[in-house]
Amino acid sequence: MRALYPGSFDPVTYGHLDIIERAASLFDELIIVIMTNDEKHSTFTMEERKQMLQHCIGHLENVRVEIGSGLTVDFAEKLDSQVLIRGVRAVSDYEYEMQLATANMTLKPKIETIFLLARPQYSFLSSSTAKTVAKNNGDLHNFVPDFVAEKLREKYR
Ligand code: ADP
Repeated sequence: MRALYPGSFDPVTYGHLDIIERAASLFDELIIVIMTNDEKHSTFTMEERKQMLQHCIGHLENVRVEIGSGLTVDFAEKLDSQVLIRGVRAVSDYEYEMQLATANMTLKPKIETIFLLARPQYSFLSSSTAKTVAKNNGDLHNFVPDFVAEKLREKYR
């Protein structure tokens, strides 16, 4: 079965990568989809985000990255996938994720959202935390892989 992992990945963190590895072992194929999100002002371009993700998933044979637009469920249908993967860190994620999953369920009842719980060591971690640390010259090694850390430092140099 093919699953999609949609998100902004602006940039990818160890929290996302943990979800990617876990989902990749559950499904035959995992497609990470970088979706355009109008409400969020992005730091990296879609291509930059794609490059960082690709660099980080080289060891995973059944994972690839795509750039998506429009509704996630439409994109899932186009890619012939019935499963959306999302990560949940804390109660604070729950309301937003529930809203999103319920809207998607209403739009396309056959597409299921599957939630993977963040590992405790990553439950504090978000792309915006990594950006704040980078902006203030903090140590990024617990947050993002070296390749991403370098891109973050370049961005805020
Ligand atoms: P979005 O803008 O769609 O929320 P993100 O790139 O921020 O995109 O996140 C994509 C998905 O990954 C979301 O379901 C989010 O909750 C999840 N996620 C983000 N950070 C982590 C983390 N540290 N651990 C587990 N899941 C995470």
